[in-house]
Amino acid sequence: MLQTSNPKNDSIQIFVKDRLYPRSEAKVSVFDSSVQGGDAVWEGLRVYPEGIVCLDKHLTRLQESAKTLAFEDIPSKEFIKRAIRQTLEANGMSDETHIRLTLTRGEKITSGMDPRLNQSGSCLIVLAEWKPLVYDNNSGIKVISTSQRRNAPQFLDSKIHHNNLLNNIIAKIQANVAGKDAGLMLDDRGFVAELNGSNLFMIKEGKVFTPYTHACLPGITRATVLELCHQNNIQVFEQDITLSQIYNADGVFATGTMGELTPIVEIDGRPVPKTDKHMITLIKLFKDKIRDYCEPLQG
Ligand code: PMP
Repeated sequence: MLQTSNPKNDSIQIFVKDRLYPRSEAKVSVFDSSVQGGDAVWEGLRVYPEGIVCLDKHLTRLQESAKTLAFEDIPSKEFIKRAIRQTLEANGMSDETHIRLTLTRGEKITSGMDPRLNQSGSCLIVLAEWKPLVYDNNSGIKVISTSQRRNAPQFLDSKIHHNNLLNNIIAKIQANVAGKDAGLMLDDRGFVAELNGSNLFMIKEGKVFTPYTHACLPGITRATVLELCHQNNIQVFEQDITLSQIYNADGVFATGTMGELTPIVEIDGRPVPKTDKHMITLIKLFKDKIRDYCEPLQG
């Protein structure tokens, strides 16, 4: 599934550092850390009329990722919320909107890797676009396991939501070459980690399983699914999962802000059913409850 450009996004306003710019003028410097080294952190947010899904958790993850990378002037949640509100208001957006929130280490005084070259503060970007869910959640998606392993903590901690996405982009290229929708990434030990841009769950005999977060992003949608399982007495386990186990699951689905819950109908050419009643119940439960997780932008 390849996203297409939406003409409604041609004239959007984008917040960069301290104010809004029209799309054609919204830029960062060639000296910005994101250009120099992928040195930035980010979040994807979904907007509903009721508010932004799990906003506070997303802002916490952004700030924690920035702290791990030793950013110096991490903006407050209030500052970020004001910037988001300003951007959504300027674009008249309250639904069908996805926000790419990026915080770069900022502009360097000269090209180079050293964070001491960053002397003018971090740079917040609020890119809000008209964008419905990216996957067709009725037909589901096909995936292929990739030779590219997902980063484990001894190399680069997958809990940092950073912009150095080459690990996942290489997996996505392998999926593209194979004509599939996403790359299934294993961890350094050969257990299932996640897809290149979303987390994974499987169902077997009415029980729900998902990999530990050793080598995947601790997704916020993933956390919501775990919470919904606990609240509804659905047995759920975090554990190591092998390819054989996932090929033979009764149902498999991906989770992420971009696509919410998406059934996976094929893994490495093996068909996976999308008719499992427990999976259907869980997907419906998520759809019914998602608006309860929306947080309005007050103040
Ligand atoms: N894994 C990866 C690698 C991702 O990039 C994302 C989306 N940012 C996810 C999982 C899903 O995370 P979330 O549910 O917080 O959107």
